[in-house]
Amino acid sequence: MSERKIRYFDNNATTPVAPEVVEAMLPFYTELWGNPSSAYGFGHQVAGHIEAARAKVAALIGAEPREVVFTSCGTESNNTAIHSALMAQPDKRHVVSTMVEHSANLKYCEFLRQRGFEVTYLPVDGGGALDLGRLEAALRPDTALVSVMLANNETGVLFPVAEVAAICRRKGVLCHTDAVQAAGKIPVDVRQLGVDLLSLSAHKLHAPKGIGLLYVKRRTRFQPYLMGGHQEKGRRGGTENVAYMVGFGRAAELALERLAESSRRIGALRDRLEETLLAAVPDTVRNGAKEPRLPNTSSLAFDFVEAEAVLMLLDQLGICASSGSACTTGSLDPSHVLQAMGLSPMRARGSLRFSLGSTTTEEDVDYLLAHLPGIIRRLRAISPLCAAHPDNDRYDVAAARARQAKELTSLANG
Ligand SMILES: *Cc1c(COP(=O)(O)O)cnc(C)c1O
Repeated sequence: MSERKIRYFDNNATTPVAPEVVEAMLPFYTELWGNPSSAYGFGHQVAGHIEAARAKVAALIGAEPREVVFTSCGTESNNTAIHSALMAQPDKRHVVSTMVEHSANLKYCEFLRQRGFEVTYLPVDGGGALDLGRLEAALRPDTALVSVMLANNETGVLFPVAEVAAICRRKGVLCHTDAVQAAGKIPVDVRQLGVDLLSLSAHKLHAPKGIGLLYVKRRTRFQPYLMGGHQEKGRRGGTENVAYMVGFGRAAELALERLAESSRRIGALRDRLEETLLAAVPDTVRNGAKEPRLPNTSSLAFDFVEAEAVLMLLDQLGICASSGSACTTGSLDPSHVLQAMGLSPMRARGSLRFSLGSTTTEEDVDYLLAHLPGIIRRLRAISPLCAAHPDNDRYDVAAARARQAKELTSLANG
């Protein structure tokens, strides 16, 4: 492990577990390890802590505790929502999603489509916004579910989920939202949103990885995705991960307490970061509309550079950022979200996401701002892509490519 200080600008990928959360979880590894389904008092005692945690996560989203089903992650919640809507309405075989959903939604939709279900993926405009007229037009008598995310993990752009849910209600179609990125960053209220199903993941709000929830509105027909024991009132089999549920509950409590203050502080830091970079680095644009979006996320396209090269140089300085979703890192395909917004592959490949969080400091932002413009300049100076730029028409492309390859090899080695 490196001793170097980490400057973490990747809070949309995951967040550190809060010390208060760790503390709340520890007794469930030492004294309170019983099986909550057991008939004796020791089991009941543990079950009581699950119900207390359920009440806390329910409060974060304005739900009733009995409307909360704990799952193993945001991915399971999204899969379950889609699965349940189709299985509980066997006469319906059509799902409406969007082109910019998380892979936890898109991959499952693709799986179903290959097995004879029909999926409509709604497009977005250049700012990342949905066209509600198009959404309404996509609904059919056999549409089982509309699944539209609340906040995009790559750009932070918010979808008008309350309006989407109102359209769905009028047409008698179930509505699900992936609110994983929204929780803890903006207020999330299931009654205001009017959705039937909503997904959260704990590790995006300072609880451990490996636990999430699915909100299922009262009286919604539901079909479990994991079948086994009678846990979660028969809605999700599997012996409960008690410590994680308790940790999630504590994190939800903290998120609610700190929401207003932390989103104000983080929003100001993000704005300073973004505005300074847009002013200091030429040929840089923001991806996605400025509003409405999350207060912590900034997606910026730096023309004529490869994001992967920028990330490598930032990493050497202890700065963690990303070129899109953590789930697609490693693939060289440009982000599906940025492409759906109409960015050229070149611009999408030069895009970086900075996602701030409660541990981000003014000094972290200063450090990033002190280094990033120089890194972009340095990479552009050796970029073959600069040959296409009007200011660089004297550029020798072949020599630039060779120099860049050499530079990248030496970066990778040192
Ligand atoms: C992280 C994320 C998920 C997946 O959550 P996991 O708990 O990691 O499975 C789903 N949707 C969005 C928008 C996310 O950002």
